[in-house]
Amino acid sequence: PPSAEPRSISIFGATGSVGTSTLDLIRLNPLAYRIVALTANSDAAGLAKLAREFSAEVAVIGDPAQHQALAEALEGSATQAWSGPQALLDAADLDADWTMAAIVGCAGLAPIMRSLLRGRSVALANKEALVSSGALMIEAARSSGATLLPVDSEHNAIFQCLAGASYDQVQSITLTASGGPFRTWTLDQMRVAGPAQAVAHPNWSMGAKISVDSATMFNKGLELIEAYHLFPVGLDAIRILVHPQSVIHSMVEYRDRSTLAQLGAPDMRIPIASALAWPDRIATDCAPLDLATIGQLTFEPLDNERFPGPGICRQAIAAGGGAPAILNAANEIAVAAFLAEEIGFLDIAAIVSEVLAGYSPQEPQSLQDVLAIDREARVHAASSVRTRN
Ligand code: NAD
Ligand code: MG
Repeated sequence: PPSAEPRSISIFGATGSVGTSTLDLIRLNPLAYRIVALTANSDAAGLAKLAREFSAEVAVIGDPAQHQALAEALEGSATQAWSGPQALLDAADLDADWTMAAIVGCAGLAPIMRSLLRGRSVALANKEALVSSGALMIEAARSSGATLLPVDSEHNAIFQCLAGASYDQVQSITLTASGGPFRTWTLDQMRVAGPAQAVAHPNWSMGAKISVDSATMFNKGLELIEAYHLFPVGLDAIRILVHPQSVIHSMVEYRDRSTLAQLGAPDMRIPIASALAWPDRIATDCAPLDLATIGQLTFEPLDNERFPGPGICRQAIAAGGGAPAILNAANEIAVAAFLAEEIGFLDIAAIVSEVLAGYSPQEPQSLQDVLAIDREARVHAASSVRTRN
C-alpha cells in the first residue's frame, strides 16, 4: 500500500550488473524504497552519479585512492563520501531493512557477514562469499534471525518453488544450466578460446567474472555449493541439468514425485524483484514469458569431460573443511589471469585442481579463518598462473 513507510535499502556493488539492475527496479517503484548506502570498488564518478540520483545517505568507494575523487563528485550533495574496506563494514552497520550483496568475489564476504550479524534481510547475489564461508554464513544468519534471500536465478527459483515446505518433503533439487557460450564447442576449440568469446553469454548479460564462470561451468559448480548450504537436502539430492534456453530457472521435486519449476525470461531483474519485494510482489517492466515464440524447451546431460568444473566443486564439498574456500580463491585468480590473457581457457580448471590438491586446511571456525585460507590459496594460484604463462 502506498501509505506504508518506504523500505530502507543498501546496495553493495551498486555499479555492477546486479547492482544497476536493482536500481532499475527501484526507479520503477521510487516511493516504495529509500537508499541508505551505495558502494562500488573504484568507479567514483559512476557511484557519485547514482548516489545523487537516489539521494543516498552514504556512498562508499572500496579503493581508498578514489576517496578524493568521490568526495569532489559528491560536493554540494546530501551524500557522505566514505572509503576503504573498513568503511564497507561501517556501511553494513547502518540501519537498513534490506541489503543487496552484489559485490563480486570473496571481497564481499566481510560486509555480508556484518549485515547478517546485524539481523538484516540480505539479498544474496555474491555466491563466492557463501561458497567460501559456507556453514559460517548460514550460522550467522540463523543466530541473529537474519533472512537470506537468494538472488542467483536458480536459487531464487528454488526458494520460490519451496515456498516454505519442509526439507523432508523434498526428493531432489535440479539446477538448470544454460551450458554457456561453449556448450557445443570441442576441447580443442576451447583450448584457444579468448576472453571476448568466453564473456559472450548466449542468454544473460552479466559481469565479466561470472560470464567466464558460465563458460567454464564453474558457475554451476559454485551454484551447487551455494544450493548445498541454502537448501539442506544433501549433496546427492542436488542435480544439474543443461537447458540451453534458460527459461526454467530450476526445479524442486517433492517426495510424491510432483515437480515444481519457476519460469521466466532470462532477465536478472525478475529474481531481483522477487527478493526486493519478498514476501510481496512488485510490478516490473521485464519481458513477459512468451512460450509460443520460444517454441521448444530442450534438455541435455552435463558433459563432465569438457566441463570438469561442477565435478571439482562437488568433490570440494565432499572434502569439506576449507576446500570450497580454496577452490573459490583459485578460481577467482585463474579467471582474472584468463581475462588478462595470461593463461588459456582450459588452464582455469587445471589451476583450480592443482591448488585444491596442494593442501587441505581444517574447517574454518571464523571469518578470519576463511579470509586466511582465501589469502593463502590466492598465493598458490598466482604461482600456478606464473608456471603457465
Ligand atoms: P560486476 O562485476 O558487474 O559488479 C561487481 C560490483 O562489485 C561492482 O559494483 C564493483 O564495483 C564491486 N566490486 C568489485 N570488486 C570489489 C572489491 N574488491 N571491493 C568492493 N567492491 C567491489 O558483477 P555482477 O555480474 O553484478 O555480479 C555480482 C555478484 O552477483 C557476483 O558474485 C556474481 O556471481 C553474482 N551474480 C551475478 C549475476 C548477473 O547476472 N550478473 C547473476 C547471478 C549471480
Ligand atoms: Mg545463476
